[in-house]
Amino acid sequence: MLKISLARLRRDLTALARFGSNPGGGVSRPAWSPAHEEARAWLLAQMKEAGLETSVDPAGNTFGRHGDGAPLVLTGSHIDSVPDGGTLDGALGVLAALECLRTIREAGVPLKHPLAVVAWSDEEGRYGSLFGSRAFTGKLDAAKIPEMRASDGERLVDAMARAGFNAREAPRAPADPGSVAAYVELHIEQGPHLEAKGIPIGVVEGIVGIRRNRILFQGEPDHAGTTPMARRKDAFLAAAEYALAAREHVVGRGSGRSVTNFGVVEVKPGVTNIVPARAALLQEMRELDGKILGRLERECTALAKRIARRRGIRVAIERISRNEPARMAPEVQRTIEAAAATLKLRTLRMPSGAGHDAQNLATITKAGMIFIPSRGGRSHRPDESSDRRAIERGANVLLHTLLKLAS
Ligand SMILES: [Zn+2]
Repeated sequence: MLKISLARLRRDLTALARFGSNPGGGVSRPAWSPAHEEARAWLLAQMKEAGLETSVDPAGNTFGRHGDGAPLVLTGSHIDSVPDGGTLDGALGVLAALECLRTIREAGVPLKHPLAVVAWSDEEGRYGSLFGSRAFTGKLDAAKIPEMRASDGERLVDAMARAGFNAREAPRAPADPGSVAAYVELHIEQGPHLEAKGIPIGVVEGIVGIRRNRILFQGEPDHAGTTPMARRKDAFLAAAEYALAAREHVVGRGSGRSVTNFGVVEVKPGVTNIVPARAALLQEMRELDGKILGRLERECTALAKRIARRRGIRVAIERISRNEPARMAPEVQRTIEAAAATLKLRTLRMPSGAGHDAQNLATITKAGMIFIPSRGGRSHRPDESSDRRAIERGANVLLHTLLKLAS
């Protein structure tokens, strides 16, 4: 049975991890940074050495292709990282894909469809999340490109220009309709479920939808020394009560995998001797089932209003963003399971709580994702890791999935 070379894959992972490496471990390799561009040049050289036909589209997506004709079977992930990120997030999916194509070429396996490995641009969203796969699937809004900025204020157009790209050309990256027969991405789970269950392969059923709302409670800015407690209209305490109650509600009334987070809290006027008159919370909710997600959002809105009313203050809810869940193709899920069965590996169907480029690809082709266990469920941090055998198993499942999809 055809197998990848773990030694070669690990050599590549080590080599890529040098670009943007941090002294304390892990990498900082944001999209379009010098470290990222050096990593891209290295990746292109590896693709060429493997005998692949390379290309880079106007959005900076980097491809290595094996075989002629159309439609192609696409596999990959991303080589950018979050600041102080780990060495496997994204990198594993790109380098395992490269190793699979190398293995298939060397074995001279005849295929019906060409295969291509891809590294998508700015998956982590320094300037705009899932930028490259949005461009490839025709979802980039050209009018917004001049305004796209990193959190430190740097403009996307400047960052891309420094790397030799014209950001205004990026919306010209879409694939021809029907040119991609299927997409499959190998990724670390970034969560604890596979490790806890002792199952080597996760088959992703879909990528969760996300709702982000700003909940603004408005009370009265009274003197914090002279106003009796019973008379205060404290916006912060309403926000605090709401955050705790919403957390209980999402846990108790969600799917069992529904999550919510209050990542930003602003309290105004923000001094010790004035009762908080305004408290704004940024709330995020994630869930794979769109109906449950919508219901939780409505119920949380009602909850915020009830709490505000009882405390005699006002609340306004502003929608920041909404992302619908993306279902992975049942056919690709079954193909991954069949590939795992060939290798005698157990699988678990699961949602992805993190966003991935596969959610964009799912809108133009049959898309699927393979997860492998993350040690301690850790990710987006320098000590992100997966067992070497877990990496080998995941790459072999990707190999056999690709063989099935392309023949
Ligand atoms: Zn990733």
